Amino acid sequence: MEKDFSRRGFIQKTILGGTSALLASAAFSSSSFAAKNENMQEKPIIKRKLGKTGIELPIVSFGVMRSDSPALIHAAIKEGIILFDTAHGYQRGKNEEMLGEVFQGYRRDSFVLATKIQPEKKDTSAGPSDVKTDVKIFLDKLDISLQRLKMEYVDILYVHALSSRDDVLNPAMIEAVTAAKKLGKAKHVGVSTHRNEPEVIQAAIDSGVYEVVLTSVNFKQDHYAAVKESIAKAVKAGLGIVAMKTMAGGFHDKERKQPINCKAALKFVLQDENITTAIPGNTSFDHLSMNASVNSDLAMSAQEQADLMIGKSQGGLYCQGCEHCVPHCPKGLPIPDLMRAYMYTYGYRDSRQAQDLLLSLNLPNNPCEECAECSAVCAKNFAVSERVADVMRLTSVPEEFIS
Ligand code: SF4
Ligand code: SF4
Repeated sequence: MEKDFSRRGFIQKTILGGTSALLASAAFSSSSFAAKNENMQEKPIIKRKLGKTGIELPIVSFGVMRSDSPALIHAAIKEGIILFDTAHGYQRGKNEEMLGEVFQGYRRDSFVLATKIQPEKKDTSAGPSDVKTDVKIFLDKLDISLQRLKMEYVDILYVHALSSRDDVLNPAMIEAVTAAKKLGKAKHVGVSTHRNEPEVIQAAIDSGVYEVVLTSVNFKQDHYAAVKESIAKAVKAGLGIVAMKTMAGGFHDKERKQPINCKAALKFVLQDENITTAIPGNTSFDHLSMNASVNSDLAMSAQEQADLMIGKSQGGLYCQGCEHCVPHCPKGLPIPDLMRAYMYTYGYRDSRQAQDLLLSLNLPNNPCEECAECSAVCAKNFAVSERVADVMRLTSVPEEFIS
């Protein structure tokens, strides 16, 4: 069952023979989680508290973004999973609707539901934004989400996809989430971030409002140590941390012939006890079973550690959002967003989510057209302009052809 996810055909035995020195690396040391041979079924589910929210969760939860199967949600509940994470925009609302149907059959206090709403993108040339309007737009979207979910409240409401201190301290969003709590429509509020995580996490701490941060964190991040340090600070300040993008795109290549060892990648993130839970996506029962097995077994084998060490040096599909490339693009393209769309397309095979993201960027069809040579050099050696041209083709595909 695991072979699809832990296949290591791409790692040569000769390479593995030389990994002992690499394994000494502090980042991958896991002496406290030495591999055990006990029967995993007999091990209890590991649970952690989500900051000061009072919520306690198994370390593995469910990111529902790519799932449209009620049966998979029912199966996850049977596996002991409690937190289900969706967003206002996932599957253009159908994701929340699907969860709403499923959870009709469960007691409201038997699961934890998180959704995310992204602030409206602003045309800054049109002058300063109007706080009241922004608050209303956000709260109207929350009402729509609650209708789809058939719920009176969500347990965690995130302001979605923030990437700067200013984003987090945006007075309109703070007013909106405060109102949502007062109205009883959100039990707890937080922010989510795909990039510039340390700055976003610090701002969430400083806000005194946000209680949870949903952050990208994985073994491929060159700035993993900085993310980990910020997470520790947030936990000390009483915030809860939920991890996403733990599997860094799932594959090293767009052809999907070189899978990341996803189970090892999930374990790696969760070995940081400051992280309450992670929300890997599940699109099959095999996926679910593999991810759920980590709930009671964080022990990492030498092979798994080796897979991650080798995988870290491969380019892959995951853009770490470091923005190293951004100042070198004369057109100021939102390259991290474009690379995320590329990962959704080839890593997740989720062309709808990719298309939605691309359309939200309001770019011309071929934004690199007038550039003779790409000067946006990527820290991970991505061929940036090629990936931009490749993924931008999606914007002109009619909706009925998108799956
Ligand atoms: S080719 Fe490179 S530098 Fe030019 S617009 Fe595209 S991403 Fe920017
Ligand atoms: S494309 Fe490369 S340099 Fe640019 S943000 Fe992503 S990982 Fe960093």
